[in-house]
Amino acid sequence: MKTLGSYVQGRWHHADSGFSNLVDPSTEEEIARVSSAGVDFAGVLSHARETGGPALRRMTFAERGALLKSMSKTLRAHRDELLELSRQNNGTTTPDGSFDIDGATGTLAYYAALARGLGDRRHLVGDDGVQLAKTDAFWARHVLVPRDGVAVCINAFNFPAWGFAEKAACALLAGVPVVVKPATATALVAHRCVEAVIEAGILPDGALQLICGATGDLLDRLGPQDVLAFTGSADTVLRFKQRRALQEANTRFNVEADSLNAAVLGPDVEADEGSPTFDLFVRDVVREMTQKAGQKCTAVRRILVPAVRAGEVEEALAERLRQVVTGNPADPSVTMGPLATGGQLEDAVAGVAALADSARPVLGGGRCDGAGSPAGKGFFFSPTLLAAEDGHQAGAVHRREVFGPVATILPYDGTAAEAAEVVALGGGTLVTSAYSDDAGWREELLATAGSTTGRLYFGSSGSAPAAPGSGVAMPQSLHGGPGRAGGGEELGGLQGVELYMQRVALQGSREVVDALATGGADGTEG
Ligand code: NAP
Repeated sequence: MKTLGSYVQGRWHHADSGFSNLVDPSTEEEIARVSSAGVDFAGVLSHARETGGPALRRMTFAERGALLKSMSKTLRAHRDELLELSRQNNGTTTPDGSFDIDGATGTLAYYAALARGLGDRRHLVGDDGVQLAKTDAFWARHVLVPRDGVAVCINAFNFPAWGFAEKAACALLAGVPVVVKPATATALVAHRCVEAVIEAGILPDGALQLICGATGDLLDRLGPQDVLAFTGSADTVLRFKQRRALQEANTRFNVEADSLNAAVLGPDVEADEGSPTFDLFVRDVVREMTQKAGQKCTAVRRILVPAVRAGEVEEALAERLRQVVTGNPADPSVTMGPLATGGQLEDAVAGVAALADSARPVLGGGRCDGAGSPAGKGFFFSPTLLAAEDGHQAGAVHRREVFGPVATILPYDGTAAEAAEVVALGGGTLVTSAYSDDAGWREELLATAGSTTGRLYFGSSGSAPAAPGSGVAMPQSLHGGPGRAGGGEELGGLQGVELYMQRVALQGSREVVDALATGGADGTEG
């Protein structure tokens, strides 16, 4: 059985105790073991701060972008191997695994291209400046400089490659060294990603370290220049927020947590086969329920439907969901794999039981055997659709994230204002998708629901030919959401890089400030 080490202080560290086992979720066979026992966490931070950080900050954006391009190419060269590891450890089908792995290489490539446009600079210019006196003898302008610390990037189990890449791309481009910690249960893919990047000799020493397993006292050693970029559950966030050391140091803390995303069908969309907007709605909802077996933070959990259409929508979704073949992705007939761990399966079973108090079952509802796997083995969960009587009265549906292929139909009166009220009951989402060809309804939805979500994805007859689905977190757009979703902001082009930088207001004569901001002159007044 493979033993996963941690890459720290410029070498691989192999523990000799404290192992957790990684299993293939389709067969429950043990495939690897992992432990971080014996890692010198203080040494990890010093190595990043004293060796990796200075080396990165000596480079320009263009040079750091070239590193990202090489990382993207390296991971792409290992695509087939990573897909196989993803199948073994995450139970993904090839399309689901490529969603993670191609998402990783695509995000790295996007930031590499963005960096080319930033050229030889070492800081970002935030604005054009503003006059603070009667003349431009006193002027202000904002710039962003790299933080003089470490980016500790902690990722959830469901996106081991993309989670690593989307955080590392932004931090490295900003000039900040990275310590990445994948979720222990699915560390295989992230471990191989880092191993491949290290083997390729792309990054300066100290720019990238990997911790497989527990983080010991690492978080209590973070300081004011460091960034803790976290993706995972709201429960873990709560525990982190109670850590005294993090509070005292005022470490920058970005949170991407869970989310009860909603898909809203507009009242103008007839439930007709052949209506491009209705077809898109059904296609998107089914994909966003079943892709990666519903283990996506952006998955659709709540389906808002005008009450008059609830029956037709239920039928259309159930028909499509019945066509899903759940099982071991090694079997070519399978279209949806298992949940990633036994713990996730238990949580999903308990979650559906909690939802059943507020909604009736339409389809599925629990563990099933998987095609291509021995009976009783594997963490398979059947596509599960529930339906509530009234969107406002759906209790646990607005509180409980069931991290599996599970969603609930919620009838509403068809007005954008009521849709917004029902969506808001989820406490803040990463994405709300809305399907309508009525410009007035869409405007009203933006006005009433915009503040409760990080992203509004509009499906319409115009977008139907190209819309990729609401679950895709594209690097060009913001990823994150208010309230329950964590309140974080990642990606969104340069905004994602700014997380790892410090905004500084420059004040002085316009000549001095502009010279400093644009980096061309030495700032000496003429
Ligand atoms: P989790 O249990 O909160 O774990 C997330 C990460 O935190 C893992 O790497 C875990 O490591 C680590 N962790 C937990 N306790 C820790 C501690 N005391 N010290 C240091 N690290 C600690 O979440 P999960 O089960 O992996 O992921 C599922 C959740 O993530 C869902 O709620 C989902 O919605 C959310 N998610 C959100 C996004 C987003 O972008 N908003 C994306 C993906 C997933 P170990 O595995 O070693 O415990």
